[in-house]
Amino acid sequence: MPELAYLNGDIMPIDQARVPVEDRGYQFGDAVYEYLASYKGRLFAVEAHLDRLENSLSGLSFPPIARDRIREAILTTFERAAIPRAGVYVQISRGVAPRNHAFPAQPHPQIVITVRQAPETPERYIKEGIRAITVTDIRWGRCDIKTVLLLPNVLAKQQALDAGVQDAIFVSPEGVVREATASNLFICKDGRLMTHPLTPNILPGITRAVLIDICHEHGMEVVEAFFDRQAMMEAEEVFLTGTVTEVLSVVAIDDQTIGTGGPGHWASRLRALLEARAGDGQ
Ligand code: PLP
Repeated sequence: MPELAYLNGDIMPIDQARVPVEDRGYQFGDAVYEYLASYKGRLFAVEAHLDRLENSLSGLSFPPIARDRIREAILTTFERAAIPRAGVYVQISRGVAPRNHAFPAQPHPQIVITVRQAPETPERYIKEGIRAITVTDIRWGRCDIKTVLLLPNVLAKQQALDAGVQDAIFVSPEGVVREATASNLFICKDGRLMTHPLTPNILPGITRAVLIDICHEHGMEVVEAFFDRQAMMEAEEVFLTGTVTEVLSVVAIDDQTIGTGGPGHWASRLRALLEARAGDGQ
C-alpha cells in the first residue's frame, strides 16, 4: 500500500515528486486544492469535490481543465495506491512561469495529487469533544474558493495549540461566527441546528452539504443563518464538520463550557449517520 503522488500525468512515490521553484502555487499561492477521503476502499463524494474544484478554478480564471481528466487522475492514483482509508489531496496551480504577478500568457496548470493513509481523529476527541478559542477572521473576501492561501488558518490553528486547545473559530470583526480553521461550524439552539449561510466568507463544505441533506432526510430542522459569538456561547451544542473532522463536538470555547460540557446528542447522531452514508459510498 504505497503512498503515491501524481504529477502532471506521472505516478511515483510521494518522496520522489518535485515541483519547480517557479511554480505559481509556491510563489504566489496561485493554486486551488481539494481534499477527499475514502471509506472501505471507495472515495466519498467525488462529484461534489469536482464541482467545488471547478468553481475554485473558474473563480480564479484558470484555463479550463477537463473534469474527466481530473477525475481519471484522482481515481487512477487512488486505485494504484490501494489504501482503503485514504486521504487524497488534489492541488492545481496556474503552472510554472518566470516570477511576475500577471498571469502567464500561456498558462500550463500543474496538477499534483497525493494519496496517503487518512489521518484519524483521536478517539479521545470523539468521546470527550475538543476545546477551541475564537479569533478575529482576517482572511480575504473569497473564502468560498478553496485556495492554498491558508496562512490565516495556519496562524489561528497554531494560536489554538499554543493556548492548549485543539482549534480556533473565526469570528468576523462585526461578531459573526464563520467557521473553524479547517471545518464548518454548527450550533444547536432551542432544539434547531444553525449554520452560517453560503456566502464568500466561508468554504462551502462538502460535509456541511451532506449533513444538511441527512438532516432533511431525517426530518431535522437546519437553519442557514448568521449568528454571533454570544449565540454560540449560549448554544446547547457546538460542533465542527469537515472531511477530516467528520463531526466533532466543541465542548469549551475561550475557557467557557458549552452545553453540558460533553459531546451532545446531535453531534453524536450526525456523526453516526455521516459514517453510515460515507461507508455506503454514496
Ligand atoms: N472550512 C474550511 C476553512 C476548510 O478548510 C474545510 C476543509 O478543508 C472545511 C470548511 C470543510 O470542508 P469539507 O467538508 O469539504 O471538507
